[in-house]
Amino acid sequence: MIYPIVKYGDPVLETPAEPITKFDDELRKLAEDMFESMYAAHGVGLAAPQIGIGKRIVVIDVTFKEDPNAKLVLINPVVIRQEGRQRSSEGCLSLPDFREDVTRAKIVTVKAQDLEGKWFEKTGEELLARALLHETDHLEGTLYIDHISGLKRDMMKRKIRKLVRAGEWK
Ligand SMILES: [Zn+2]
Repeated sequence: MIYPIVKYGDPVLETPAEPITKFDDELRKLAEDMFESMYAAHGVGLAAPQIGIGKRIVVIDVTFKEDPNAKLVLINPVVIRQEGRQRSSEGCLSLPDFREDVTRAKIVTVKAQDLEGKWFEKTGEELLARALLHETDHLEGTLYIDHISGLKRDMMKRKIRKLVRAGEWK
């Protein structure tokens, strides 16, 4: 099932998500639906709040279907290591058509549970490091625009308010 992507302005995006405690078929179905919804929206990462579900689960595939082994499901993820710096342009499915440069760590390790509830660690560099931080942030109610300058953020918010008034931001 493909869920519509929730856009910036919906409080679910700025509310910390709840931990997941049940590792059942319903959770497996949610993960599948999240991949389907992410691919349909042409994204490489998606957090549950972005489909209106305030739970701590994210899916990532920085290869966008190229490599089935690259598909990542992270449940209750926690960033445990960050190294180096990278700066490049970042976007978000909940803020369509906007991009801004964001400085992030270059190498990132998270620990997370899999669909069976087993803890594991995953380290990513470059784009994957960026995705791990971006998606984990979503579970805290933090968006990438919280990492850019206040001036740029205000400019973006003004543009979005204009789109809302024009009925082009739903
Ligand atoms: Zn996002």
